[in-house]
Amino acid sequence: MHQLTLAEIARGLADKKFSSEELTKVLLARIAQLDPQLNSFISLTEDLALTQAKAADARRANGESGALLGAPIAHKDLFCTQGIRTSCGSKMLDNFKAPYDATVVAKLAAAGAVTLGKTNMDEFAMGSANESSYYGAVKNPWNLEHVPGGSSGGSAAAVAARLLPAATGTDTGGSIRQPAALTNLTGLKPTYGRVSRWGMIAYASSLDQGGPLARTAEDCAILLQGMAGFDPNDSTSIDEPVPDYSASLNGSLQGLRIGVPKEYFSAGLDPRIAELIHNSIKELEKLGAVIKEISLPNMQHAIPAYYVIAPAEASSNLSRFDGVRFGYRCEDPKNLEDLYKRSRGEGFGAEVQRRIMVGAYALSAGYYDAYYLKAQKIRRLIKNDFMAAFNEVDIILGPTTPNPAWKLGAKNSDPVAAYLEDVYTITANLAGLPGLSMPAGFVDGLPVGVQLLAPYFQEGRLLNVAHQYQLNTDWHTRTPTGF
Ligand code: GLN
Repeated sequence: MHQLTLAEIARGLADKKFSSEELTKVLLARIAQLDPQLNSFISLTEDLALTQAKAADARRANGESGALLGAPIAHKDLFCTQGIRTSCGSKMLDNFKAPYDATVVAKLAAAGAVTLGKTNMDEFAMGSANESSYYGAVKNPWNLEHVPGGSSGGSAAAVAARLLPAATGTDTGGSIRQPAALTNLTGLKPTYGRVSRWGMIAYASSLDQGGPLARTAEDCAILLQGMAGFDPNDSTSIDEPVPDYSASLNGSLQGLRIGVPKEYFSAGLDPRIAELIHNSIKELEKLGAVIKEISLPNMQHAIPAYYVIAPAEASSNLSRFDGVRFGYRCEDPKNLEDLYKRSRGEGFGAEVQRRIMVGAYALSAGYYDAYYLKAQKIRRLIKNDFMAAFNEVDIILGPTTPNPAWKLGAKNSDPVAAYLEDVYTITANLAGLPGLSMPAGFVDGLPVGVQLLAPYFQEGRLLNVAHQYQLNTDWHTRTPTGF
């Protein structure tokens, strides 16, 4: 039963092959048995899950239907869940029980989804390896000595190991697409403003976006349907109608114009990944797509711009964690300054402190123009590059990451080496564009992802291309040994 996708679960529940309660019990037992190897969950919510599963079964018995009614999922532990620990992977929030549900959590619960637990993540979503969590590193089910990617690494590892069919993640600079690529999943970062950020603990507010992680494009469509939509509680939420994503899956790719940026294949890309990307291009050509070389000339400036803007916003967002209002407070503070210093010094881990310092520096008087303002100008140039490219092509294709999953600890002493892994993903966040990663093959037994980017609000187009690709390839069906 644990092999079923969301779409298959919906059919099984509708045909009364099993109940949501039965399925939930099977998956909870599987998590208890296998998660100690992975560390993909921070909290399990067994009681809530069984209550929700029984309620979903009762709704079905009353004639209700819906793709998510009774479907087991989990939330990255930065989505606020009422009465349940919402830690953000940090000691700072280890004792924080959110007083309300994030909009995403509330919407999915209303659609009948069953929450099995809260997944592990890099502290405050900062990272590309899921090693900065206060609750310990997450392991990649494809090779337990390797990282699963980050920061939504708990969600990715759990879904890849078939502990559950799908989970939520968030993507500020790649944290849905990159762990999806490194664990053989399909992951989608929606257009900025498509999914409400209300109740999603902020890392960098102008870049953060929630989205689905699942094994197939078909399942991403189902989960995104439950997450997307206007929310008056989020001032950056956009009031655009939500299309039927599942209906978008079946369009033909005949004549689809795919742009491949020449900058993507420069030094730094593992040549074995380049070969797999070229294979995926050939596959899409067989389905009728037309390939065109394009250029994104400002791409080389994306990492420096992102690593100014994201820490700047983070330093501002994280200033609320001061040991006074909520979160961790140090023992026996001597005075107010000591309280602030030690609460923040003890509550935040090394990577978070590094980002706060970089961000505060970039925003300080005298440096603002030199760093922050310049980074914002680069951001606009990157957006303009995409706008020009999308005048010529319908989607942009390339690798999701320059390398497959690396060994645990391999990049710990060199933060910049980890930042460079974000080269292909962060441009979509800087421009606010939707992006998807899907399985494209293996290198040394480790999964590789291909990334698709589309114009604003064209999530349906991404899902369409990925679904057609998945109808003709079987990479996404491969299962890690031992799971
Ligand atoms: N790896 C990037 C960072 O560390 C992206 C993280 C994310 O998308 N949340 O900032």
